[in-house]
Amino acid sequence: MKYELSKLNYSYDALEPYIDKETMEIHHSKHHQAYTDNFNKVLEAYPTIAEQSIEQILTGINDLDIDSKDRNALRNHGGGYYNHKLFWEIMDPANKKDGVLVDDLEKDFGSVDAFKKEFTDTAKTLFGSGWAWLARDNDGKLHVYGLQNQDNPLQRGHTPILLLDVWEHAYYLKYQNKRPEYIENWWNVIKLI
Ligand code: MN
Repeated sequence: MKYELSKLNYSYDALEPYIDKETMEIHHSKHHQAYTDNFNKVLEAYPTIAEQSIEQILTGINDLDIDSKDRNALRNHGGGYYNHKLFWEIMDPANKKDGVLVDDLEKDFGSVDAFKKEFTDTAKTLFGSGWAWLARDNDGKLHVYGLQNQDNPLQRGHTPILLLDVWEHAYYLKYQNKRPEYIENWWNVIKLI
């Protein structure tokens, strides 16, 4: 097994009351575990691809000359593995950013509030399952957009910075159909410095 479920550096109840303990536990120990296991399973058949980094695999996913069913499996489960790992990291209460981000947000969105509004609206209106993203292009400019399923900014040559899971499994136990409330509350666990 090449990939292991990433360890949480905080307890399942650390993000209460905004994200509840039960959701965190199932999301990490069941959903993320399943993406990790399924990713490993597909990689077993492709040792050459398995030698690449996860970033290389996701960046070049559309160019992989393999069975389309396996390519989709790598895209979905590899993306699920990678996206959740990053999601736990950006919500880590001990997470410290380098101070560059707010300056860049003001430059590219006018203000931090304008960025938050665009990101929030993107997350609220994303149809079906997927993630809202803040990503940086090759020129350093920041962009906000939604991507469905477990797709990832790496697939458009961007570097992921911030992400919000809006799959129902991320919020349904506590918020049911109230995705907007989950999104508004989620900002409380994110530090922009
Ligand atoms: Mn998820």
